[in-house]
Amino acid sequence: MKKVKNNIILSVDLLDILKAYDLCESVCKYIDTIKIGYPLTLSEGLKSIEILKENFNFNIICDYKVADIPNTNEIIAKLSYEKGADYLIVHGFVGYDSVKACIDVANEYNKDIFLIPEMSNPGSDMFLKDASEKIARMGLDLGVKNYVAPSTKIDRLFKIRDIVGDDSFIISPGIGTQGGDPKKTLEYADALIIGRSIYDSSNPKLAIKEIIKSV
Ligand code: C5P
Repeated sequence: MKKVKNNIILSVDLLDILKAYDLCESVCKYIDTIKIGYPLTLSEGLKSIEILKENFNFNIICDYKVADIPNTNEIIAKLSYEKGADYLIVHGFVGYDSVKACIDVANEYNKDIFLIPEMSNPGSDMFLKDASEKIARMGLDLGVKNYVAPSTKIDRLFKIRDIVGDDSFIISPGIGTQGGDPKKTLEYADALIIGRSIYDSSNPKLAIKEIIKSV
């Protein structure tokens, strides 16, 4: 990924496509990239990708945290890219073959993936923390350029940046509601993933403007 407008990716974790549409409409002046995950997709179907893409011309990151055997990953990736995903978020802990299956499909569609070495929630320290540096190195070996790393653990974000280098693009969730600080995070990440601090606000437009001002 090259650049994200105002360094903010809106995480549209809503269940209702009309509410998602209204949210996107209220902030579309300030962003050009959104993330759609299981909440909206399971509730409204894969057509939600098409609807938000067609109406707002956003770059769309599908956050399906893909973590299956290569064959199933391939099916998930094909479905996502066919419906308009520009990027697919893929878990690294399942190993190189599963990640490579997604990379191969991305290449077929001229799209790309994001790899997750480590998560933003406290519980991720139990298992993923020990593996995350190896996962990031595996990503580099596979030629992955885009990563997801936590804003809630700046030391881990720093470590992952150190491994993947300045040429890689890191997007960072955990801002606001999970405790991450936008300004500090942008010292090591290229863009912030923000959900509840914007969509749960009584005025999402104002919320996003304030975040932009604060960084
Ligand atoms: O509402 P909030 O800003 O906490 O949303 C963060 C979004 O980023 C959610 O969609 C969550 O699933 C996602 N995410 C995360 N931590 C990761 C990877 C993705 O919070 N490591």
